[in-house]
Amino acid sequence: MARLKGKVAVITGGANGIGRAICERFCEEGAIVIIGDMNEAAGQKAAKTLGAKTSFFQLDVREKGQWNSLMKEVKQKHGKLDVLVNNAGILSTSSLQSVEDVNLEEWRSVQSVNVEGVFLGCQAAIKIMKSNGGAIVNLSSVAGLIASPGILAYGASKGAVRQLTKSIAVDCARKGYGIRCNSVHPGLIDTDMGQNSMHMGGGNPEENYRKRVALTPMGEAGSPIDIANGIVFLASEEARHVTGAELVIDGGLTAVSYTHLRAHETPEHLVFRL
Ligand code: NAD
Repeated sequence: MARLKGKVAVITGGANGIGRAICERFCEEGAIVIIGDMNEAAGQKAAKTLGAKTSFFQLDVREKGQWNSLMKEVKQKHGKLDVLVNNAGILSTSSLQSVEDVNLEEWRSVQSVNVEGVFLGCQAAIKIMKSNGGAIVNLSSVAGLIASPGILAYGASKGAVRQLTKSIAVDCARKGYGIRCNSVHPGLIDTDMGQNSMHMGGGNPEENYRKRVALTPMGEAGSPIDIANGIVFLASEEARHVTGAELVIDGGLTAVSYTHLRAHETPEHLVFRL
């Protein structure tokens, strides 16, 4: 298949997890992929494995200067940018994340990657996309749609990504830039971050995982490819009329009513929901 044939795509956080799967699927669909990630060793390895059409650029999404350098390089090498996937994100470094526990430093570190990083990426990409049009996909989470009291800073950051996405979508559409902007909302996905979230709030990580999976109507965690497949659609021409939308890929987790969840949850379940 070649649903993204010849499209030039920057994928942040592409060295691992969901980002890595997005890179793989984009390559399979014929895209030219630039992996932007802080992790140089993993990023270089991924680029090498994925083949000649993939390259690595060491990027900290919090740094405006690095975004400018990346866009300059993309423009010089490829003459355009068709797709930006703002996938890089962090959960937190502290395991206690309720409103009474989270400290300001922790709060700011999560917002700086998950919100400022996405804002800077969109701003930098729009500058070069607006002459040819393009697609921006921002990774939010189910935590951006429903309460996530045990991962407070993360949930707030993902809510901001959802909102930012809609404003950018409308702004670009009204200006006639031909740039679409959509958010994706994964549930529990088997990656390093997905596993790390099981260590938050105490308890046994394996038991926490089992409970999280049991809360998902489909009875399983998603795989990174499940998210990547949705993003291929949003980046492709098949989604030409889709902008400002939320694509939820969560095995039915957020389709269950809050009342139903409450009836089946103990408070510690609520702590672990991403
Ligand atoms: P991950 O931790 O497995 O991988 C994240 C990647 O982002 C890594 O390669 C890391 O080096 C990179 N990164 C982190 N900070 C960066 C920075 N400042 N600049 C550049 N790169 C940076 O995470 P994942 O599970 O693959 O998650 C990817 C995205 O999906 C994130 O935005 C996350 O919030 C979201 N998400 C994940 C889940 C899940 O269950 N895994 C659920 C909902 C949403």
